[in-house]
Amino acid sequence: MARVPVAAGIFTWPSDDPRLIGSRCVACGIVTFPAQGSCPRCASTEMSEHLLPRRGRLWAWTTQEFAPPSPPYAGPTGDAFVPFGVGYIELADEVKVETRLTEAHGLRTGMDMELVLVPFRTDGDGNEVVTFAFQPVR
Ligand SMILES: [Zn+2]
Repeated sequence: MARVPVAAGIFTWPSDDPRLIGSRCVACGIVTFPAQGSCPRCASTEMSEHLLPRRGRLWAWTTQEFAPPSPPYAGPTGDAFVPFGVGYIELADEVKVETRLTEAHGLRTGMDMELVLVPFRTDGDGNEVVTFAFQPVR
């Protein structure tokens, strides 16, 4: 089975050391994720690619206990659905990233989290679609 990313330009792929792909404003330095073509703070259109740190701290979260409405949700439903966490990870005081979390329970504010790539679903061609998530650092 081939593995494919959920979308192009979100994380480095393929990679043994995956990183989220953000952008940094050349004029004022603000970092965004996902990458943007113009700065949300100063409106400059000079944005450079910026790979985000792999580790950060859990800033806020909730749990998804049932399958979200589809579309846009395209993951497992019914008996195949497994609850997951959704939260924000603060990366090096640069940016907060909204993300899936590998755990739905046992989370606490400020805990160390790291980026991982996880299976999300199987597409119509039989490929394993991979998305990003953050897991507690063990
Ligand atoms: Zn700017």
